Amino acid sequence: MNVLDLIRPSIKALKPYSSARDEFKGATDDMVFLDANENPYENGVNRYPDPQQGSVKDLLSNLKGVPVENILLGNGSDEVLDLIYRAFCEPNKDNVITLPPTYGMYSVLANINAVDIKKVQLSDDFQPQVDKILEVADENSKLLFLCSPNNPTGNSFSQESIERLLKAFKGVVVIDEAYIDFSDIPSWIERLNEFPNLIVTQTLSKAYGMAGIRLGICYASKEVISVLNNIKPPYNVNELTQQRAIEQLKNYEQTQSQVESILEERTALVDKLKDVPFVSEIYPSDANFVLAKVDDATKRYDELIEKGIVIRNRTTQPGCENCLRFTVGTKEENEILIKALKELK
Ligand SMILES: *Cc1c(COP(=O)(O)O)cnc(C)c1O
Repeated sequence: MNVLDLIRPSIKALKPYSSARDEFKGATDDMVFLDANENPYENGVNRYPDPQQGSVKDLLSNLKGVPVENILLGNGSDEVLDLIYRAFCEPNKDNVITLPPTYGMYSVLANINAVDIKKVQLSDDFQPQVDKILEVADENSKLLFLCSPNNPTGNSFSQESIERLLKAFKGVVVIDEAYIDFSDIPSWIERLNEFPNLIVTQTLSKAYGMAGIRLGICYASKEVISVLNNIKPPYNVNELTQQRAIEQLKNYEQTQSQVESILEERTALVDKLKDVPFVSEIYPSDANFVLAKVDDATKRYDELIEKGIVIRNRTTQPGCENCLRFTVGTKEENEILIKALKELK
C-alpha cells in the first residue's frame, strides 16, 4: 500500500504558504531581522515562533526515540486530528470508522468536515470487533480511529486486534494514545516503520499536566508528516506553548513521579469504589480515570454536583448505560469523592 495514494488530490497538488521564518533558515541571534514585519522592541514574544518547533521536537525525539522527521505538533491533539481529516477525507465522499463508546471529537470532526461516519460498537468487553470493522469498510473508508487506552472505558485494545487491523484495513489507522503514559503497554510509535498506514497521536494534556498550553503530537511516516506540515497553519504552536513545553520536557522526572502517584491513587480509588453499595461494576483502567457502573448514573451525578464534585456522566454512550467516569485526582480529592459517595443513600 502507498499511503500517499490515500491523500486528497487537492492536498497533494497544494503549494503551501511559505512564511518569513520558513524562507530564511539558519538564523542566528546576532542577525538583523527585518523580514517579517514584527515589532522590533523585544518583550519575549514580539517575534514569530519557530514554525517547525525544532527545540520541542528535539526533546520529544530524544525522549521517545522517534526521529524529528516523523513528528508533527499541533494546537492540541484536536488540531492534529483535524489536519488528518483534511489531508485524507474528501468532503461528501469519504468516510471514517469509529468504535463507540469512544472519544467524541472523531465524530465532531467528521461532521465539521462533511465526512460520513461508520460506527462499529466495541464488544461487551470494550474490544474492537475486527471482522465487523473490516466488513463495513469500503473503498472510501479513509480513517479508522482506535483510541487505546480508550476514553471513556479506560481499557487498552488487544495488540493482536490492532495488528490485524493495521494489516487488513485499506485506509489509515489512527491510534489515539492520549493516555499511553498511564499504561504498561508499549506505544505503537515503536512500530511506525513497519506500518506505513499508521498514525499515532499523543498529547501533553494528560500525563504531562499541560492541558492549558494545548500541545498535541502526531507520529507518522515522514511522507505523511510532510503532507500534514503543508496544510497546518504556519505558526500553529505559539511561542509561550513552546517555551512551557520545553521546560516540562526537560523535567521528565517530575512527569514520571506524578504519573506514579496517579497510578497509586487509581489503585486506591478502585479499592474504595468497591465498598460503595450502589457501584455494581468497576472497569479495568490503563488511564488516569476509572469508569464504573452504578444504579442510576444521572441521579448520582446530580447528587455529587450538589456536594461540589464534578465527574462525567457517560450514561448516554452506547454500552455505558449508568456509567460514571471519575478522573483520578490528588489523594485529598479522591478522599473527598469517596466520602461523598459513601454519604449517598
Ligand atoms: C484528552 C484526550 C485527548 C487530548 O486532546 P488535546 O486536544 O491534546 O487536549 C485526545 N484524545 C483523547 C481520547 C482524549 O481523551
